[in-house]
Amino acid sequence: MLRPADLSSKEQQKKFQRFLQRADARKVLRRLPDLHEEAIRENDCLSCAACCKNYSPRFKTPDVKRISKYLRLKESVFIETYLNVDDDGDFVVKSSPCPFLGADNFCSIYEARPSDCARFPYTDEDVLLKRPRLTLKNATFCPIVHQVLDKLSATQL
Ligand code: SF4
Ligand code: SF4
Repeated sequence: MLRPADLSSKEQQKKFQRFLQRADARKVLRRLPDLHEEAIRENDCLSCAACCKNYSPRFKTPDVKRISKYLRLKESVFIETYLNVDDDGDFVVKSSPCPFLGADNFCSIYEARPSDCARFPYTDEDVLLKRPRLTLKNATFCPIVHQVLDKLSATQL
């Protein structure tokens, strides 16, 4: 598994950027399911947790409702205890690492986790191409995103 230090070279970022600018969406989407499965198999999230340690998901209204219920807290108490509003007006965690991340890197609210967490790292979605800046940022810390982009860009599509 690639370590964060291996992920952030400027050369790699430029290569990925060029790829994302020129990629044929139809061909990429055809290859994504297999590349996603392979990267999930080959990278162990429980020995990484870089996403949960360094970035916050957005807590949308349905997430707040579901997680408050799961924790048996009033929504207002849940918000007051754990969340802040960021510059985009979204609820995010007050502090990093995420307060729901355990010392063993398990998520203590896994069954009820925010939709952003369930979808991350978006390597089986067209978000990968539609939000290139987000994809490039994710590739600097997530070995799964990095691996998928590396394999896709090895054969320009
Ligand atoms: S999704 Fe990516 S950054 Fe998050 S734990 Fe898994 S490999 Fe690490
Ligand atoms: S809610 Fe769970 S999966 Fe989401 S960032 Fe926090 S610890 Fe990670």
